[in-house]
Amino acid sequence: TINTKHLGRASGVAIMGGTFDPIHNGHLRTAVEILDRFGFESLRLVPCFQPVHKGLPSITAAQRLAMVEMAISSDSRLSVDRREIVREGPSYSIDTLKDIRSEIGPDEPLIMVLGMDSFLSIPTWADWQALIQYAHILVVSRPGWEPDLISELSAFCENYRAASSHELQCAPSGFIWLETLPSLEISSSMIRALRKKQESIAYLLPEPVQTYIIQNQLYQDNVTL
Ligand code: ATP
Ligand code: MG
Repeated sequence: TINTKHLGRASGVAIMGGTFDPIHNGHLRTAVEILDRFGFESLRLVPCFQPVHKGLPSITAAQRLAMVEMAISSDSRLSVDRREIVREGPSYSIDTLKDIRSEIGPDEPLIMVLGMDSFLSIPTWADWQALIQYAHILVVSRPGWEPDLISELSAFCENYRAASSHELQCAPSGFIWLETLPSLEISSSMIRALRKKQESIAYLLPEPVQTYIIQNQLYQDNVTL
């Protein structure tokens, strides 16, 4: 692993989108591992307003956002990017990448971090083949998901696969890299299911987030907002 901090320069903006319904330690450990391994300057969590390919979140965007804010307050390299929530409507990654690219300029590496499950669904995303023009795609392992590449996706990978992870720190966009992390087998669905069964969610997410969920009685019934 090449850490640009050792070269006297840390660059690159990593982003990790998600529904964060709720944010959990699987998201947070992934974020921290990526920052430590690649030496990017920062990682922004981007909560979506309305996911395009799954049902509506079971709580409000404001509640999901509040939990992300609580979860990251102790690490200065992590931040939250509210643009999809401010934009409202269906949250398309391509819009977000174009937006961030125009803010950071053409030369700064922009890295979109995706779990293997999200990456495998990418051929269903709006304008997906254009994503790589705006950012690199850094795919992280996720327990239960193997790289089972359908032909469309394997051709995409062949075209853009980085020869070394260093390319993600040098070029602004255009490369795909698969990184195996010591993943945690935690999902938001698992946390919602535990809540519904009135079982403990302790140690799966940061304590302030757990407290917020309990105090606001979140995920206890089937109400969809
Ligand atoms: P749900 O169970 O509701 O689908 P989730 O746990 O998958 O929720 P998302 O908000 O959908 O969480 O995920 C956001 C991003 O984080 C996705 O790219 C996903 O692959 C990744 N991710 C989520 N959990 C993990 C984990 N435990 N390890 C690695 N990546 C993860
Ligand atoms: Mg998911």
